[in-house]
Parts: sequence; C-alpha cells; structure tokens
Amino acid sequence: MNIHEYQAKSLLKRYGVAVPKGFPAMRVDEAIKVAEKLGGPIWVVKAQIHAGGRGKGGGVKVVKSVQEVGVEAKRMLDMTLVTHQTGPEGQVVRRLYVEEGVDIAKELYLSVVLDRALSCVTFMASTEGGMDIEEVAEKHPEKIIRVSIDPATGMQPFHARKLVFGLGLKNDAVKSAVGFMMAMYKAFIELDASLVEINPLVLTKQNQIIALDAKMNFDDNALFRQADVAGMRDEEEEDEKEREAKNHELSYVALDGNIGCMVNGAGLAMATMDIIKLYGGQPANFLDVGGGADKERVTAAFKIILSDPQVKGVLVNIFGGIMKCDIIAEGIIAAAKEVKLSVPLVVRLEGTNVEKGKEILAKSGLPILSADNLADAAKKVVDATFKAAAAA
Ligand code: ADP
Ligand code: MG
Repeated sequence: MNIHEYQAKSLLKRYGVAVPKGFPAMRVDEAIKVAEKLGGPIWVVKAQIHAGGRGKGGGVKVVKSVQEVGVEAKRMLDMTLVTHQTGPEGQVVRRLYVEEGVDIAKELYLSVVLDRALSCVTFMASTEGGMDIEEVAEKHPEKIIRVSIDPATGMQPFHARKLVFGLGLKNDAVKSAVGFMMAMYKAFIELDASLVEINPLVLTKQNQIIALDAKMNFDDNALFRQADVAGMRDEEEEDEKEREAKNHELSYVALDGNIGCMVNGAGLAMATMDIIKLYGGQPANFLDVGGGADKERVTAAFKIILSDPQVKGVLVNIFGGIMKCDIIAEGIIAAAKEVKLSVPLVVRLEGTNVEKGKEILAKSGLPILSADNLADAAKKVVDATFKAAAAA
C-alpha cells in the first residue's frame, strides 16, 4: 500500500526523522490558514498524489507570500497532474501539503528497501539527489552506495557511518545524518514498510540533514497490525481494478496480455500463466481468488477481469478442495450471467465433485468450453482467444 508524502512525513517524524514543518490542506482557505500558522518567509505548496516527479509537472511551488500560497493552492487543487510516474492520463490533485521552505545546500538521495534476494534490509544512498534513481543506476551505477543490514542484528552506527561518508558529509552533518538514518531504519522495521525513499534528502545551509520528500510503501499482509498506516489508505489514488480486488480479498495484478485468468492459489495461478505462455498466449492478469472462493468472489473476479478492454478470452482454472466443484460451477454460471460474458470462457475444474461440476456447466446453456487438464485448458483458451481477437 502507498501513502501520501504528508502522511509519510508525519509517520517518519514520530520516529525522529527530521522533516520540514508543514500541514495538509484540502481546500484553498485551509492552505492559507496553514501558511499563516507556518509564518514563512518561504513556503512550499505541494500537490499530494501517489506519484513522484511532481516538481517538473508543476505540482511543487516555492513561494514568498501567504497570498501566493493561495494562488498556487487554487491552481493545483482539482488539476490533473501529469508526471512521468502517472502515465499520460495523469492524476487529479485532491489534497495539498503546505510546508516551510528549506535553505538547500545540497540535494542527496537515500532509500531503504526490503532486499528479498539477500534477505536483508538494504539502504541505498547517492550524491545525485532530486534525480530519478533508476536513471542514476543506469548511467552512473558507481554513484549508488549500498549497505545491507541483517534484520536479526539490526542497524548499527557503523552502517550509518558508511553511508554518511559515502555521501561526503562532514562535521555537524555527520551526526545529523547518522541520527536520521537510524530513525529511518527503526520506522521501516516497526511500520512493516517495504520502501522508504527520501528524494531529495537535503543538506541545509545550516549543515543539517532533512527529508524534503518522502515516499513509503507498506507490506499489505502486515496492515492488520498497523492500524495507523491502514487508516492512511486513500482509495481515490488506487487503480480501480486493484481497489476492487482488495475489497474482495483477491490478489490481482494487471499484465499486458489478452487472456484473463481466474485461479485459486498463487502457485496454480503462476503455473497457469506459464502454460498459457507455453502455448503461445499472453496472460492479461494474475488473479488468485483464494481458498474460500464463493459466488460473490467469483463474480467480483469476473467483473475485474472483464473491465480490462484488452481481455479477449478467459480461463478459469480452479481446484475444488475445501470448496467443491459443483459449488464453484454454480458460481461461475451465476457470475457469467450477471456480467453478460461476451468473450470465450474456458473452464478447467478438478477436485471434489468434479463430475457434478462439469455437468452443471454443460447444462447451463452458456457457451463454456470445458477442459480436462491444464494443457488442454491452455490450448483451448489460446485458440479461442486468438480467434476472438482476430474477429474483433
Ligand atoms: P517530486 O519528487 O514529486 O518532484 P519533491 O518533494 O521531491 O517532489 O520536490 C521537488 C523539488 O522541489 C525538490 O527537489 C526541491 O528542490 C524542491 N522542494 C521540495 N520541498 C521543498 C522545501 N520544503 N523547501 C525547498 N525546496 C523544496
Ligand atoms: Mg522527490
């Protein structure tokens, strides 16, 4: 799950990470009130969307009067902000953040991520702040310093010093940066984050380290024990299909192909995608309906799959273990009728009451192609999708 910059800053601040003083605002008059409270002499008005690159798109403005805060707030609210991270359709700005302006001496980069390959928590730092880190990684990989930390022993001051000296910080900035990084690590661990990215991390003219921007991602599976974080969810920022999936406890990831997949169990879903590819097709999504797939969930899953205009065929591949095949078959039929299925549907059922399930599908009168095994199902759906796509 993602949150806004202002939310990330408020969480990080609790852990002692230095951030500029600021407050969110949902309306122009609120932004003006916040500006008066902050007192100036420099203010920054920042559009809050779940995407970076706002500065270049006109979503971050440094101003010198309360009046200008009002002007910028008015301009930004409800605008469609297009950045390289939003895609060409952009994102509507519904929230603002007004914070104090900082005297920037140098812009740096600092992030901490979960490194699954190393089973470590890894810090990345670079003197190339304010730029896209992907670009730095590509053009100047030597300018990224990496420090991996074993979560069992935790972050030690020497880890922080390695980063700090790599960033070329000296004198007072060293102590400020070490404290900053230790606090950032603690926040990452205790909040079950998967990413904390500070870009830019700023060295001020007063030789202090402060976070000018903050991005945090969280492990969805830990949200049950992170009530504060869960409460920060902004549904308006989420992809509609992924939001629907989340609300029905479905694991859904959109992909580029044209064969929609509905499967129970992550392993079977992966195998299904693999075999579709083996037979020359391209999956449109990963979708795991989970163990307790009932009619409601199957219907929700169908709706999500079919709301993707790319989808020209659907494969349902379900193993009826706890949930029996006949129940699943009824769910599929009800769902197919409700969504007025208009693309070929291949169903492969296996498990408890499979014969009964197949019989229900055959008698439904719906143009459902039944498959006997995984290879047969993949062949059928690739074939039917190809024909449907060619006819369209
Ligand atoms: P984004 O990454 O979405 O473009 P940032 O928060 O990184 O947004 O802001 C973009 C740039 O605006 C920063 O690199 C910095 O130069 C400037 N900026 C942002 N916040 C402040 C601030 N509080 N004081 C001074 N300059 C700022
Ligand atoms: Mg930034």
